[in-house]
Amino acid sequence: MQAPLQQLQHPLLQQHNLTLWVKREDLLHPHISGNKWRKLKYNLQEAKALGKETIITFGGAYSNHIAATAAAGAEFGFKTIGIIRGEEHLPLNPTLQFATAQGMELHYVTREAYRQKSESAFLAELAEKYNQPYLVPEGGTNQLAVKGCTEILEDVTIDFDVICCASGTGGTIAGVIAGLKGEKQVLGFPALKGGDFLKEEIEQLVYNYSGAYYSNWQLITDYHFGGYAKVKPELLHFIQEFQKQHHIPLEPVYTGKLFYGLFDLISKGYFPEGTRIVAIHTGGLQGNAGFKERLGIKV
Ligand SMILES: *Cc1c(COP(=O)(O)O)cnc(C)c1O
Repeated sequence: MQAPLQQLQHPLLQQHNLTLWVKREDLLHPHISGNKWRKLKYNLQEAKALGKETIITFGGAYSNHIAATAAAGAEFGFKTIGIIRGEEHLPLNPTLQFATAQGMELHYVTREAYRQKSESAFLAELAEKYNQPYLVPEGGTNQLAVKGCTEILEDVTIDFDVICCASGTGGTIAGVIAGLKGEKQVLGFPALKGGDFLKEEIEQLVYNYSGAYYSNWQLITDYHFGGYAKVKPELLHFIQEFQKQHHIPLEPVYTGKLFYGLFDLISKGYFPEGTRIVAIHTGGLQGNAGFKERLGIKV
């Protein structure tokens, strides 16, 4: 399983004298995609070490993390339970169809109940109901996930100045920040509106893992396109063009927004000449099937 670096060629890069490499985490595994594999790796080891047979986790109906956990359970011999936000819709969407095909048992909870997903009373109830399973939080983000994400850097064999990634819960960028230990610059592109709230969470995740605070990172909060999983025609157009030019598929929830934002910053002269940039392709392409179905659009 490899996540190679791929250099992009683009007139804008030439014009501003920049180099841009894509870290293809999307190629790590066909189903346990990208950063979700990094985040699950040590959690799966921990679950095994604790003798757990079942993994329980949380997500929305199109969640990459739900799909990845289901596939990981099938591959590594765990029963998996997915607590899904909202009502059941039949037929199942492609994400949940995939999850059930991998053996995941789905339980739907109301949006109100779902909001309690980190509260101890709710978790104690689940633990009892499902016979003390191994619990992975929403999006897979916990301290072991941060540890796994530090390994994204291990096979970045080139020298660079700036590294960028899309952010949801912030676990991935926390791992990158922790792994770099204050060196170089890290830019996070939140997929949610009002992404500034993530700053404190990321700081906390980094601190819990490494016992240190770092200041060589920043969130770029202008490229959410209206909010989580919201899209605009120019974003979909960008994704299509990107795929045509570079033969790299993106999806509109995370990586599409990252690369759109990155190229917009480049066109505005944000990066000094000579800057060497690495952008992490965090995967998540399974979500495209659901997008096509839901919005009747091609991405
Ligand atoms: C889940 C996901 C993210 C967000 O990762 P966090 O660690 O939650 O910030 C980014 N990109 C893709 C493709 C994802 O599936």
